[in-house]
Amino acid sequence: MEPLNLLLVEDEESLASFIQSELQFEGYQTSWETNGESALETFLQQKDQFDLILLDWMLPGLDGITVARRIRKVSKVPIIMMTARTQTTDIVTGLDTGLDDYITKPFEIEELFARIRVIERRLQEQSEDSNVLEYQGIKMDLARHQVLVKNESIELTPKEFGILYQLMREPEVVKKRDELLNEVWGYDYFGQTNVVDVYIRTLRNKFKEVGAEDLIQTVRGVGYVLRGSYEN
Ligand code: CA
Repeated sequence: MEPLNLLLVEDEESLASFIQSELQFEGYQTSWETNGESALETFLQQKDQFDLILLDWMLPGLDGITVARRIRKVSKVPIIMMTARTQTTDIVTGLDTGLDDYITKPFEIEELFARIRVIERRLQEQSEDSNVLEYQGIKMDLARHQVLVKNESIELTPKEFGILYQLMREPEVVKKRDELLNEVWGYDYFGQTNVVDVYIRTLRNKFKEVGAEDLIQTVRGVGYVLRGSYEN
């Protein structure tokens, strides 16, 4: 995973520069805004670039809660609120508006890092989850280009991998031959749709080696579907 890109919103300059240099020292990328309006503007302009926002509550202009609320309308980016001790009773309101966590000032920098790491792990798990498809003992890791069937690794060619991916995306939904052809070979392919059958056959043979060939089923005259289960 790439280093996290953080947006720090803090109007106290000495605190901000301290936090920022510590974060950079830990390998995080950071941007710094000193007030609510500019923070919101920066975020909205490049919202896909930030992984986490460290947001001070008391800010000139828009306060942190208002900023958080507006960000939540357009993004699920994690937000850690930095708040003075006297505001801890208000933090319940803050958590209701979609904050992920808060930290009370003054804090030890290690405590801030610990909270950031919790969110970092969560983000990592989410990105791993979205890269792995699972169905009936088939596990397809898209990032690593790996396929496990019943915990046994099988080697697939890019085309076999592409076909299996189309079937795994929507298991138990019948995929037509020309659908698979378009998805895997692209719309420019002018050959026969039975090329799909050829690759399904090789794919099935590889599944057969691990005793799972029944999972790829033929729907006569239509196409293929991933369905059923194998015997243990
Ligand atoms: Ca402040």
